[in-house]
Amino acid sequence: MNLPRHLSRDLIDSLLKRVSLDSAREHRATPLTAPFTGATIAEVPRCDPDDVAWAARRARRAQKSWRKTSIAERGRVFMRLHDLVLDRQEQLLDLIQLESGKARRHAFEEVLDTAICSRYSARAARRHLRSESRQGALPFLTRTRVNHLPLGLVGFIAPWNYPLSLAVTDAIPALLMGNAALLKPDQQTPLTALFVAALLEEAGLPADLFQVVTGEGRELGTPLLDAVDGVTFTGSSQTGAIIARQAGERLIGASLELGGKNAMIVRRDADLDRAVQGALVGCFANAGQLCISIERIFVHAAIADEFTRRLAQGVNAMRLGAGFDDEADMGSLVSAAQLDKVTRHVRDALDKGARLIAGGHARPDLGPWFHEPTVLEGVDSSMEVFAEETFGPLASLYRFDSDEEAIERANDTRYGLNASLWTRDTRRALDMARRIEAGTVNINEPYAAAWASVDAPMGGFKASGLGRRHGREGFLKYAQAQTVAVQRIMPVSQLVGGDGGRYRRWMSRAIALLKWLPGID
Ligand code: NAD
Repeated sequence: MNLPRHLSRDLIDSLLKRVSLDSAREHRATPLTAPFTGATIAEVPRCDPDDVAWAARRARRAQKSWRKTSIAERGRVFMRLHDLVLDRQEQLLDLIQLESGKARRHAFEEVLDTAICSRYSARAARRHLRSESRQGALPFLTRTRVNHLPLGLVGFIAPWNYPLSLAVTDAIPALLMGNAALLKPDQQTPLTALFVAALLEEAGLPADLFQVVTGEGRELGTPLLDAVDGVTFTGSSQTGAIIARQAGERLIGASLELGGKNAMIVRRDADLDRAVQGALVGCFANAGQLCISIERIFVHAAIADEFTRRLAQGVNAMRLGAGFDDEADMGSLVSAAQLDKVTRHVRDALDKGARLIAGGHARPDLGPWFHEPTVLEGVDSSMEVFAEETFGPLASLYRFDSDEEAIERANDTRYGLNASLWTRDTRRALDMARRIEAGTVNINEPYAAAWASVDAPMGGFKASGLGRRHGREGFLKYAQAQTVAVQRIMPVSQLVGGDGGRYRRWMSRAIALLKWLPGID
């Protein structure tokens, strides 16, 4: 096949050599398909359980010396990664588009995200990871500190929708913490992950510390979980539950970043133009294949007709395209399976009485898996699209009469990942946010403000996940907290001699006194 301008066959071959394969024995291979055309990009080796175990052993060996390096030294690697990602963006964008089929502007979001996470994590690592002093058991007599020690080897299982961001941004704090990483990217987007491995090595990460195994999740998931000391999984809630069960059996931690059915609430006092623009971005970024994208729009009844008219106009004006340039507003879906799900949801809703506000059709004239951005009205609970995550360019519009009703209906889902609230009354919005069951709430913004606030935790309520990425929480899940207490003079139990009755009286008085001492919690 013809490759985009900034890629070459040699580059792709060199990336494939980075797959962690145990020995030169024959491996099966899987053809990798370009969503824009359906052509085969390359044959990707299919790792097996022995490869996973081999990669884990190498990573563990490399971790032994990495954990002894200083946080400052580790931080320098990720500041270089920040520069490399920005400098090599044309190649990265070509590669992301080639294997995911997304528009260039959506591929660029990944470059930004990776640069932001690299910089933040490199700079904030010291603050989050240094040993800290805590209140001791007895004032003046017990000095207590907490160390944050690496877990060892952390496993990452990533999806295809953000093949750069989700392959590396969770691994960055884990590596900064002194861990090694073993990544299994999605089988539809392995090349971007392998490119990141190359960039990490160029940035100075020791060889073998970041391993990439390629292949099917069903085949490699169990051996990966057997080999690691903790796992971060990003993907569907269904697979997340499998990972949680397996991690539970091994008694290792699992951080799960899962699906969403995210709501946008447009109050009567919202700036309509901004809200419509927000809906276009929120629903159709990455062709809706974004965990935090909007699939349900709730609009106050008093402004709903005008909002609907402007939204339809905006959707109809969107440009779809398969170019490796900045022209298209939206690209292709990643696979036939994604296209099937979108068309199934649209057809089922229309068959049961929903109405089309805009879009509604596949676009094989543009590429095998393109689908128009689509908005439905009149959706009810008998339709699949009502509660199921579509993960495509499909949103349903509903009307509401009061804030209470909007919140109740927004919360009426098994998911709780992201929500978006549009109003000129910020105080009211802040109050409403506390009642919305979602891990992030964006006010006058669809998703990027909370996502890109990487000093703050991000993750899901309910079936949308367990654990958090970003911020202090995103670092400490890759650490074991170890409490070290130094007791002065003599052990606590011998402070007042060996007599049990005396010890009890003295200690009761001392503990009761602590309640009145200022500065003691
Ligand atoms: P998926 O669960 O099918 O696959 C995700 C990853 O898990 C892939 O690497 C896959 O190979 C692997 N996998 C599949 N079965 C496995 C198994 N039995 N054991 C171990 N690994 C296995 O998800 P998908 O449909 O490809 O991705 C889309 C989903 O991901 C959507 O639900 C979306 O909302 C969610 N997602 C969530 C976030 C987030 O941050 N919360 C981000 C992106 C995507």
